[in-house]
Amino acid sequence: MGCCSHALFRVSPIGNTRYSVLSCYFNSNLFQYGLVAVSRKLNLSNSLQQRAETFFPGGVNSPVRAFRAVGGEPPIIVSGAGARMTDADGNRYIDYVLSWGPLILGHCAPEVVEAVIEATHKGTSFGASTPTEADLAEEVVKAFPSIEKLRFVSSGTEATMSAIRLARAATSRKYIVKFEGCYHGHSDALLVKAGSGVATFGIPGSAGVPEEFVKFTLALPYNNVAALEEAFAKFKNQIACVIIEPVVGNMGCVPPKPGYLESVRSLTQREGSLLIFDEVMTGFRVSYGGAQELYGIKPDLTTLGKVIGGGLPVGAYGGPAEMMNEISPLGPVYQAGTLSGNPLAMAAGLAMLRTLGAGRRTIYPALDARAAKLVSGVTRAAHEAGIEMTANQVGSMFTWFFTHREVVDWDTAASCNTELFGRFHRGMLDAGIWLPASQFEAAFLSTAHTAEDIDTTIAAASEVFAAMRA
Ligand code: PMP
Repeated sequence: MGCCSHALFRVSPIGNTRYSVLSCYFNSNLFQYGLVAVSRKLNLSNSLQQRAETFFPGGVNSPVRAFRAVGGEPPIIVSGAGARMTDADGNRYIDYVLSWGPLILGHCAPEVVEAVIEATHKGTSFGASTPTEADLAEEVVKAFPSIEKLRFVSSGTEATMSAIRLARAATSRKYIVKFEGCYHGHSDALLVKAGSGVATFGIPGSAGVPEEFVKFTLALPYNNVAALEEAFAKFKNQIACVIIEPVVGNMGCVPPKPGYLESVRSLTQREGSLLIFDEVMTGFRVSYGGAQELYGIKPDLTTLGKVIGGGLPVGAYGGPAEMMNEISPLGPVYQAGTLSGNPLAMAAGLAMLRTLGAGRRTIYPALDARAAKLVSGVTRAAHEAGIEMTANQVGSMFTWFFTHREVVDWDTAASCNTELFGRFHRGMLDAGIWLPASQFEAAFLSTAHTAEDIDTTIAAASEVFAAMRA
């Protein structure tokens, strides 16, 4: 078991307190930290965004970057170094998004940058195998004892989609179970938003996904063993696999309740169904060996992404050799990729994992402790301002929820005041703090964040909360 802390901070409801619209006024405290405040100019960002809008839907290549859930204008980023990013207008931000998880060593970690430069000089892609693929695989296999063989792909979406194909082939069953609020990429069968409580037929969560494509996807409430029991009873011998984020990041950070993952493991085993841990976010993040190491659970298949690519596009899925040998060219399950195992991405991932592996005994406990200080400091500041907030943290993954309820699943996450989160987000951005642009996304910490960064962030949050209450 690695390091773990589930911090939960609560405050009683503050009744009919009314929040005023957040003004963009911040007092001089923030200036002393060299942060941006009051008149953050976004002239260049705005014109770059306008230009981007002529080319891309919403001006972006992934929707959450458009800031629609929080309002405000998305700054266009031109560089990053350590814990900070700089936008086109020269505004600097302490970054708690870190490319949505991969950059656990911060921006431009020297080991990673050097490895990529060196690899680039040798050639960017060959469409043939290179030695680095096995080097990176060896690191992954050492860290994840449940994985004997794996396949590299280029995104988390490909990893989960392929793992499900393999699970269906290995079991000769059609149904899959996923959990509400868990995100496993944008493949058709996994883009399902369904009713809670009981096993229901999936309803497509996106236009363009025919009902027929998701009719074998059952969406159940997370952290609810009874719902899973019910699904297995109703679809006896038909469920190929259960795919789960062992610590959810995609409804905000939501840890498994004590014993939940153990129950999911024993139920899937009893029913002959495969358990897929989607560790795209948690792998090498909540602990070097991911959530499976942290909680001591061995899944059948694991999907990885984010950190294993060191900030370049890498995904992976893996498990027992016998099962993985079902994949083409050895077996009948087809899966391929022109840029899979790309040498630059492999070099970045290898440098990242070797650095993390060498320092794992100190890196993960330090990240955990620093994140706990940040999470509790900001939560305390909210409470002092009379703002309802609870927080979840597992290692260096965390979320501040604008609700008084403990957040354990999608229904409780959905009770958050997203308008308030939007004000918080805009206020923090003006104060030079970059947070995920949605209440329902986890924030991250890197080894580049200093104790001073944490103090600065807590001070900024206090100012923002005070303005929200004014
Ligand atoms: N699984 C999980 C748990 C994720 O968090 C994500 C992305 N946030 C994905 C899969 C999909 O990965 P990608 O965006 O690389 O396709």
